[in-house]
Amino acid sequence: MELLKKKILENGKALNSEVLLVDSFLNHQVDVELMNEIGKEFARLFKDAGITKVVTIESSGIAPATMTALHMGVPMVILKKSKSAILSEDVIQTEVFSFTKRTSYQLTLKGKFIEKGDKVLLIDDFLAQGEAAFGGANIIKRAGGEVAGIGAVISKNFQPGMKRLRDAGYRVESLAPVSHMDENVIEFEDDDE
Ligand code: 5GP
Repeated sequence: MELLKKKILENGKALNSEVLLVDSFLNHQVDVELMNEIGKEFARLFKDAGITKVVTIESSGIAPATMTALHMGVPMVILKKSKSAILSEDVIQTEVFSFTKRTSYQLTLKGKFIEKGDKVLLIDDFLAQGEAAFGGANIIKRAGGEVAGIGAVISKNFQPGMKRLRDAGYRVESLAPVSHMDENVIEFEDDDE
């Protein structure tokens, strides 16, 4: 997605070869016009996938997932990162390790928000190691849903997440596949990869 790549090059910052800072438009301050275009693009890419729900992980996935759900005309569900204090039978949890934060968290869903037969599009801001996406997919499947697609706003394809997910059989689309980074250097893969 050219608009997004342009924004990343102009306003993003590669801190080093691993971490990309996009807090001026994606995960701290939010460029809502850009989120709208991102939502439109995900809706276009997955229009034939029969999606019934968009699911995301709090908090940085919420903005792009909301716009995607709006353009697809389906509900959006947020997977929480906090351990629910009011655990009930209906709560599904899985542990996810975050390499960026060097800590684990309990991804949590109230089961009733995903129904048997739901075809889910899982949206997140970044795809890196794939831990968050695998955790999300695990919860969606345990709730009875099918993971019909995974959408990353930005994927760092030099890290293993994209390959791991595709090898596991998931359809994964990235709007900005980064092939290489270094301090103040950001390179993208060719458009149709
Ligand atoms: P994964 O589980 O695929 O390793 O990482 C996905 C999560 O880590 C994303 O939801 C995102 O919050 C965070 N993340 C991974 N890499 C980056 C990065 O380079 N920059 C930022 N801002 N977040 C990242």
